[in-house]
Amino acid sequence: MKLCDRWRYIFYCEGRLSADERETVEAHLAECAECRRDVEMMQATMTTFERGESEELPPLPRELVNAAVAHARAQFVPLLSQLNAALWAKL
Ligand SMILES: [Zn+2]
Repeated sequence: MKLCDRWRYIFYCEGRLSADERETVEAHLAECAECRRDVEMMQATMTTFERGESEELPPLPRELVNAAVAHARAQFVPLLSQLNAALWAKL
């Protein structure tokens, strides 16, 4: 099964996924070289960052950043319209 949930990798690298989600990601990484490369790149970026060597930061793949942004937006927009509806209801 090929399921490239790239937006998850940032959370995965930060250790913010639940055990279940982490397992899903790791199972996918085991069979998807492309995603493995992305995660390795991200981990390398984070290590460099933690060492305070941000000038030497390797660039993240553009598509990865786009996927994360698209995901954040997809979650944020419905949230925002819910919030708006709640506000209007009070007026
Ligand atoms: Zn993949």
